[in-house]
Amino acid sequence: MADLFKGYKGEALEVLKRFNVRVWSDTHVKTTRGDFTGIILPRAENDDDRHIILKLANGYNVGVATDTITDMKEYGYKEAHYKIPEKEFPISEDMPNIKLFGTGGTIASRLDYRTGAVIPAFSPGELYGAVPELADICNLTTEKLFAVFSENMGPEQYKTLAIAIGEEIKKGKDGIVIGHGTDTMHHTASALAFMVQNPPVPIVLVGSQRSSDRPSSDAALNLIHATKAAAESDIAEVMVCMFGSTSDEYGLLHRGTRVRKMHSSYRSTFRTIGDVPLAMVDRQKITPLGQDYNRRRRDRNVDIHPYFERRIALVYYYPDMHPDIIDSLVDNGYRGIVIAGTGLGHVNKPVYPAIERATSKGVAIYMTVQTLWGYTHMFVYDTGRDLMAKGVIPAANMLPEVAYVKLGWALGQTNDLDKVKDIMLTPICGETTDREPYNGYLILQGGIPEVEEFLRKIHK
Ligand code: ASP
Repeated sequence: MADLFKGYKGEALEVLKRFNVRVWSDTHVKTTRGDFTGIILPRAENDDDRHIILKLANGYNVGVATDTITDMKEYGYKEAHYKIPEKEFPISEDMPNIKLFGTGGTIASRLDYRTGAVIPAFSPGELYGAVPELADICNLTTEKLFAVFSENMGPEQYKTLAIAIGEEIKKGKDGIVIGHGTDTMHHTASALAFMVQNPPVPIVLVGSQRSSDRPSSDAALNLIHATKAAAESDIAEVMVCMFGSTSDEYGLLHRGTRVRKMHSSYRSTFRTIGDVPLAMVDRQKITPLGQDYNRRRRDRNVDIHPYFERRIALVYYYPDMHPDIIDSLVDNGYRGIVIAGTGLGHVNKPVYPAIERATSKGVAIYMTVQTLWGYTHMFVYDTGRDLMAKGVIPAANMLPEVAYVKLGWALGQTNDLDKVKDIMLTPICGETTDREPYNGYLILQGGIPEVEEFLRKIHK
């Protein structure tokens, strides 16, 4: 019986039972605020017990408050299909072999068109069923490593992924794709860039901003672009592949250490910061936008460095930040702090003594800039010089999140702060650059008419 009322409890369950209405039934609902017609959707474990969720004919879901319901009548019933029809992924001798790792996020699921229920889509057969074009690009095998939204990714997952990627490359794969939630994809990308060094094949992270039940979903096209990049691109680096422009014209490949999610809802949310993207990709071709990248090789040698010290913190400075923020990190045993400072790399004077105390206790402190574009320049103002005298080390133009990840990775390998400094200040995969392009701040970042025009010219 319980299955008929999937997820409903308390008052909401009572109402469904009273009117003899099941989950997945087409139902007319009369309420004191008007009448609704739709499909009763299941509820999640943590949802409240005072609403019945209806999927309306226009595709929207509404929550109907139980205390407004005066009558409910079921007039049809069709249980959702939780499984996408599996088709066997065709294997062809002359196609590149690609491995897709799933970690979760929106890309890992698709919504049932009729009901709005989330369906996991992860075997190659299911993916082939959902995105048949993938079979024209490669032989695809998949493995679900995690099924989490990306705020739940962290050092343990980075290490597991790095090791799994190393094994697949050594087994002979021609490229790796990683399905990932978009929110923290840039953290994972930089962690993998440090942990998987000198890869002979592309390693491409991909996600989607809009779930695939929406007409504007970017899931299928991002997956096609990412798989094409993994299978055919000459760029053997850790990259993020997501929509380039606001329309679905092309995707961009961003270097894993120079990329950032910059918009909470746009599909073209990922931007390369402090540089231009590595390449453009569409269904036909991959167009590199520069020459400076690690090339694909025939060998399958790769160096895996799965280290991470978790007692590190990223502190975003704000005016009037109190020194006890730093003190409490030190008192709690944190070994490293990355500060995202104002302007060229500053914090207020009251924080100085706390910083001095931290560095004198052997806590590594690195400075980055909140502006994201540009470098820390701590020689310009005496305040910057003071901070350096207190042991703060400027981290050039490393993005704050990347410096945080790199510091965790460096402290995971050694306690010797000179060695940590060496690791932090020696670029490994583009995380710091000698200069930022004079026009990179605007060019190839989409969104303004001249830029779109420029891209259309390159993109013939
Ligand atoms: N919150 C989701 C995540 O980052 C969003 C997405 O998948 O795009 O996992």
